[in-house]
Amino acid sequence: MTEQQQHAAESEAAPLSRKTFLSISGKSLVAGGLLAGSPLLAQTRSDKAAKSPPARIPASPQEPIVLEQWKSDADPATAPTPTPLAPDQRVGYAVVGLGHLALEEILPALSSCKKSRLVALVSGNPEKLKKVSGQYGIARENCYSYQNFDSISSNKLVDVVYIVLPNGLHKEYVIRAAKAGKHVLCEKPMANNAEECRDMIRACEQANVKLMIAYRIQYQPHNRYVRQQLKQQEFGTTRFVEACNSQSSANPDHWRHKKALAGGGALPDIGLYCLNTTRFILGLEPTEVFAWQFSTAGNPLFKEVEELVAWQMKFPGGIMASCSTDYAVHESRRYRVMAERGWLDIENAYAYHGQQLKSSTVKDGIKMQASINIPETNQFAAEMDHFSDCVMNNKQPFTTGYEGLQDHIIMDAIYQSAREGRPVKIDPVKDPSKLHGPEPEL
Ligand code: NAD
Repeated sequence: MTEQQQHAAESEAAPLSRKTFLSISGKSLVAGGLLAGSPLLAQTRSDKAAKSPPARIPASPQEPIVLEQWKSDADPATAPTPTPLAPDQRVGYAVVGLGHLALEEILPALSSCKKSRLVALVSGNPEKLKKVSGQYGIARENCYSYQNFDSISSNKLVDVVYIVLPNGLHKEYVIRAAKAGKHVLCEKPMANNAEECRDMIRACEQANVKLMIAYRIQYQPHNRYVRQQLKQQEFGTTRFVEACNSQSSANPDHWRHKKALAGGGALPDIGLYCLNTTRFILGLEPTEVFAWQFSTAGNPLFKEVEELVAWQMKFPGGIMASCSTDYAVHESRRYRVMAERGWLDIENAYAYHGQQLKSSTVKDGIKMQASINIPETNQFAAEMDHFSDCVMNNKQPFTTGYEGLQDHIIMDAIYQSAREGRPVKIDPVKDPSKLHGPEPEL
């Protein structure tokens, strides 16, 4: 029996299934009218056979509307429909610092949020403040300078203060926001060093406000997929990780090249992604680091902060990670995890978009290399909505202040190792349960 005859026989016995309907109608198109004039095509055209299940509209605002389906499972499923809260039910954000990250990513991302909304702006530049507040519809009384920022305490619209300032200012503004009684989302790196992180955590605990560090990679689907695969040992035991994050820089007067404002050079700014993502995907803490650093002599960019850091981390079970970061090469943001029975590799792993995830393994004696096409999400919207969920439901954020502190403890050890030319041991985390709150609902 041919495939067409089989479909015809099925159609006599029962109404066409959605899948059969789609496969037949697809074939007739591709074959240029293969079934034209047949009773089967007449049936596919009838109202009865073409009916699809009606849309399902759950009463709960948290549950998505499920629309009528018309695609076959030969194609990838579409994402569930969004479940936005009404604007007045969302958590209100004040964004502090209107530089590249705020204007290019965070403010636009707020329009993709479901639980978060922009309610206030803080900037030292009145002209910029006026323009941006006009663009986003923020009233004058909800715009602040760095001088009158503390009066944000009496603004009932503001639930969260999001600190997007140079690293060396994070401590001051996190503490001021906490004293104003606001929950705080703070950009990475958390501060300039571990000591500052401890002060920030203490201030937020004393003020009884939540503190989250904006590690967007931990809310990013490709990186979360890798973590899950390693957890399930899909490729056997993990043996080592190679990670690199580099980009170029040109302005020696920018804060990123001033030690007091940046804390360091390539390591805390971009090398941190290699460090934090490796800890995240392995679910382990390094026990020892060994590092080297280098800066081109006479280059004014690297008068105060370093150009390149390369370091190795030893994890429990003998897992090794080899990481590198550089401020003076073409951008490269990738890692590969090598395991007993395969590897996973992400190109653009730490970028805002364009993650390309690949895997390699052997099945039945044949090498199988796959490209895993997970749909992209807006990482900034995902992390803000996670924090809003924590504020609304009184939960610990997934990436706590202690998670930020742990990275600084390790970075301090990396610098020490490079300075002293020897491996440096890392103390075990006193209370690992403080690093992460419950898994985010993404
Ligand atoms: P930026 O220089 O573009 O913006 C910083 C803003 O802070 C500017 O508007 C600047 O005017 C203001 N500012 C206030 N006081 C200042 C001072 N004393 N000196 C210099 N600037 C001052 O920097 P950015 O790239 O937006 O970075 C801001 C923060 O966001 C940093 O902590 C950075 O590490 C972090 N960041 C995170 C990501 C991410 O993907 N999560 C990406 C980029 C930057």
